[in-house]
Formats: sequence, structure tokens, C-alpha cells
Amino acid sequence: MGTIVQKYGGTSVDGREKLLSVAKNVAALRSAGNDVVVVVSAPGLMTDGLIRDAHALAESPSQRELDMLMTAGERVSMSLLSIALNAMGCPAVSFTGSQVGIITDTRHTDARILEVRPFRVIQELAQGNVVVVGGFQGVSTAKDVTTLGRGGSDTTAVVLAAALGAERCEILTDVAGVYTADPNLVPASRLLEVVSYEDMHELARLGASVLKEDAVTFAERHGIKLIVKASGSDTQGTIVLSEPLGPTAPITGLSLHRDAFLARWRVGGDGGVGIPRLDGNVRPLFTVSTGGEVLVALDETGSRAVRHPTHEPAELQEVALLCAVGPGAGTAETVAAAAGAITEAGGTPLVVCAGCRSIVLALERNGSTDMLRSLHALFFEAPGGQVSGGRGA
Ligand code: ADP
Ligand code: ASP
Ligand code: MG
Repeated sequence: MGTIVQKYGGTSVDGREKLLSVAKNVAALRSAGNDVVVVVSAPGLMTDGLIRDAHALAESPSQRELDMLMTAGERVSMSLLSIALNAMGCPAVSFTGSQVGIITDTRHTDARILEVRPFRVIQELAQGNVVVVGGFQGVSTAKDVTTLGRGGSDTTAVVLAAALGAERCEILTDVAGVYTADPNLVPASRLLEVVSYEDMHELARLGASVLKEDAVTFAERHGIKLIVKASGSDTQGTIVLSEPLGPTAPITGLSLHRDAFLARWRVGGDGGVGIPRLDGNVRPLFTVSTGGEVLVALDETGSRAVRHPTHEPAELQEVALLCAVGPGAGTAETVAAAAGAITEAGGTPLVVCAGCRSIVLALERNGSTDMLRSLHALFFEAPGGQVSGGRGA
């Protein structure tokens, strides 16, 4: 049988009971004759706690030391899981990102993977061992420990699956798969059986934390069969692939990014500035130009770069981004319907940005969850609304 890469998120390895249940699943997969690589996140909210500890000691802790600190959480999970597996008679060995050859650039706390050299993983699998890997981390070309951005264990799993030519990569988490919207915010959301890489990438980029954006990019580039499902359950979950089977609905899903910022620059005219040059590391969520202004939507990392004293000053506004993704998301009808639904629900779209497969509305953060529910009702709950095209579960 082939190689299977599984990734267990923080809630799945939080405490002895859950860790033992993961160990049982992994041992069963190994006993069935598979080569198994398991990527683990830090338990529960440990990463948040470590970051808080650092900020209690220094207003702006060194990014290098933050990386060193944050990777400690994943080390706890990987070593405990390996100990549990060995204790139940399933031979296992744990490795850090550096030990499995994940080489990154030097951008601390948000590093990009340059290369993967999984020699040790291949060796250990050949000897019959399960390999447990600490997610979210690598080693830079300057030989320092780096991390891959929050939620980066998904990326670790996918790049290892690609480097090992794995049969599939399973992301095991605290929900049953990818839904039409975050099921913890929208009780009426529906599980998607399949979703295309393209739509999943856009949803992840704009706030659907169930998968990390970079992981989807790598999965698409290397044709990795990516499955998102609940840990500790036999349900099928969601398959992320290139071409969904059967007819597709105009809107695939919605996302909400509650911690976004809108940076505003006035261009040209009296006292106006030129086109702002963004730091090369900043990834804008969208950019629009209107009425002599350039507006750029940013996440927390991007907003920090723009706030830096060396950067051209911008007016920064805290916003939430509400996004609809799918083949019909960028049409004039969808834009009008979405903006209308938000206004009717008492919200004010500050900026609307429509692409060919998505529409993003910048809103006040306050009340944005209600707006998400209103948009979900419009696209997925209306009587005679869009046909699910065989995607819904
Ligand atoms: P893990 O620790 O397993 O990596 P995450 O918290 O990163 O888990 O991701 C799972 C969470 O993603 C869910 O608990 C859910 O609240 C959130 N989420 C956001 N959008 C979606 C969506 N469209 N479908 C499913 N879950 C979503
Ligand atoms: N522990 C890291 C985080 O909380 C990485 C991950 O969970 O994927 O962001
Ligand atoms: Mg995650």
C-alpha cells in the first residue's frame, strides 16, 4: 500500500485522551499496511499562550526568538504522540521540521518553503516506522528555526505529501470538513463533498481557517489529493480537487475575515502621494482604486508592515471582510444581491471588490457575523435558491 500523510490540528491533540485516540487511529492505519507520516500541531491554544508570554516580556519580541519559542508547542505534541505509539507497540519516531528537511527563506514567523529534502522520513518509513513530524516549522537558509505562518501545519502536511509522492493527504480537524460557511458561526451551513482547489484557495485566503492558503496552493501545484475531515470520526469529509464532478452551483461558499484592515492612500492631486509601494512581503487581500484613493485590504501581518515607521503612512481602518466564492460570485447580479442583502440586514458595505470568481465586502467588524448569516441565507437558504449541483452532503 502507499504512503498516507495525516495532519492532526491543535484540538485533536489537546490532552491525553485525544492524543491516545489519535495514536489508535494511526496505529490502525499502519497495521493495514500503509506507510504513515503524521504531522501534528501544538496542543489546543498553546501557540497563543507562548506568543502572549513573549509579549509580556517585550513589546516587540525578536522575530527569531518568537520562532524558536513557537515551535516548542509542536515539539510537545510530536514527542508525546511518538511515545504513545511506541507504548502501544507501533514503532514511531518524531522529527522537527528541520530534521525532515523543510528548508525556508529567512522571513521569521511567516517563512516561505524553498525546498523539501525528506531523506530521513524515507529512511524511517523503509524501516517500518511511523514518522511523526512537528508541523508549522522549518529551517532557514541561514540555519535558523522558522515558522510558516499561523495555521502552517497544514502546509507542512501537504509539502511532505508532495515530496513523498503520497497517495493522499488527510487534514483531520474539529469539524466534519469544509462547509458553505464556518459551521461554528452559521448553524445552517452545509458540508461540501467536494470543492475545487481554486475555490478553496480563495476561501482560505479570505478567512476560512479550516485550511491554510499556502497548503491549498501546494496541493494544487503538485496534484495532491487533499481530504478534510473530522478527527475521531469515520465520516467522509470534503475532497479538494481540480475539477468538481457534476454541475456546479454559482456560489460555493462564504468566508469571513474578522481581523482585516483597510489601508487608504490618497493619490495625485494637491498634497496627495504617489502610488504606495508595499513591502514585498505584504500580501494584499484585495486592492481597489476609487475617487483619487487607493484602498488595500490587509491582514494583521500586512497592517504591521504598513504601520512600520519606514513605510509611507496610510490611514488604517479595522474592518471585517465578507467574501462569497464560486463560478458565479463575480457577476453584476451577485454583487447587487449581496450588497442589497447586507444593507437590508442593517450593514454598510464600505468597499465592494468583485473578481471573476469572488466578491469581497469590507464591513464594520461589529455585527459582521450577522451579515455572514444574512448572506448565507440569501445564497444557500432561500426557497428555490441556487441548485447545489450534487456538492452538498
Ligand atoms: P485545526 O486546529 O484542526 O487546524 P482550525 O481551527 O485551524 O483547526 O480550523 C478548523 C476551524 O475552521 C473550524 O473549527 C471552523 O470554525 C473554521 N472554519 C472557518 N471556515 C470554515 C468552513 N468553511 N468550513 C469548515 N470550517 C471552517
Ligand atoms: N500551532 C500553530 C498555530 O496555532 C500552527 C498550526 O496549528 O497549524 O498557528
Ligand atoms: Mg488550522
